[in-house]
Amino acid sequence: MNISMAQPTIGSKEIGAVMKVLKSGQITQGGEVAALEEEFARYCGARCAVAVSSGTAAIHAGLYALGVGPGDEVITSPFTFVATANPVLLMGAKVVFADIEEDSFLIDSHDVAKKISGNTKAIIPVDLFGQMGGWHTLPKRSGKQKIHILEDACQAVGATYGQKKAGMLGQIGVFSFYATKNMMCGEGGMAITNSRALAERMRQFRHHGQDQQHRYIYRDVGLNLRMLDLTAAIARVQLRQLDRWNKRRLRNAQILQKGLAGIPGLVLPSSLPHRIHAWHQFTIRVTPQFSKTRDELMTLLGKAGVASSIFYPKPLHLHPHFLALGYKRGDFPVAERVSQEVLSLPVHPALSLRQLKTIMAAIKKISS
Ligand SMILES: *Cc1c(COP(=O)(O)O)cnc(C)c1O
Repeated sequence: MNISMAQPTIGSKEIGAVMKVLKSGQITQGGEVAALEEEFARYCGARCAVAVSSGTAAIHAGLYALGVGPGDEVITSPFTFVATANPVLLMGAKVVFADIEEDSFLIDSHDVAKKISGNTKAIIPVDLFGQMGGWHTLPKRSGKQKIHILEDACQAVGATYGQKKAGMLGQIGVFSFYATKNMMCGEGGMAITNSRALAERMRQFRHHGQDQQHRYIYRDVGLNLRMLDLTAAIARVQLRQLDRWNKRRLRNAQILQKGLAGIPGLVLPSSLPHRIHAWHQFTIRVTPQFSKTRDELMTLLGKAGVASSIFYPKPLHLHPHFLALGYKRGDFPVAERVSQEVLSLPVHPALSLRQLKTIMAAIKKISS
């Protein structure tokens, strides 16, 4: 038996929706994209949604809309997917990292406060593994300068904090519909905002900087970051099933929490109060008290037919293009240690009870 880390659910409804678009002849950005934007905005409780070609593109467009550029600093976590930080460099701004909290893997608000300077233009907090942080309490200005929050909710679609959906805790929230995300369309992304002006700027950037009313009138630089109707049609079907799938993920996480409790040296993921976790990943920490190393556990699980993954094996500040900013080993001790301990286990909605039992039995056997 092989248990995978992710299993995109593509049913007859997704296939039917794609066939309809193919037969219509309108394959690129059109009515399906517009409908997805409207439905996604409504789902999140946002005024506007702008569909783009990927989560990375959504971050890029969001930073553009916020006016991030040379001389600006953007604070984010070193313990995230590289796509959170790369667009900051592409906009010509500086990436300033703040360390994370060990229990939640989320950026540490106290460390963020220490990193704020007169040049801080934005903060990109990440809802890592599907759990939101208290981003509404992050500093909103430094002296006279306004600090914008761009919430990287790529892993947290459908999560909530109090009454607010993921992506709604800052000026802009961004999502990815990459194949392994909680809802997907192969490749795709979305940015949400309550500001019509920011949405307008993102739409302009998505289409070569072109004026929204006049073709071939370019107001600024831009890129081609458009989504296809072909993939938007898949995302629309997925959105309708998202809450059901996220409930499945929650159930699977609860089963794993219960079944793996009390194993010496294994630290189970935290669920912070007042929120609903989207359980994009179920990430344990394998500490020195465990009977094997993290990498041994991963190998042995593989032999037992259970996939697992390390998100992320190396914090961002230790990669060459961030090291070039002057960062070094030891700068973010929590992120560095946690990256040596984390192991994500399958939690996706297609898992059967039997498969969950297999995962838990395998870990118990390895631990004894
Ligand atoms: C997936 C992901 C992205 C990038 O999304 P793509 O659609 O792959 O470009 C950005 N940030 C985080 C935290 C992600 O998980």
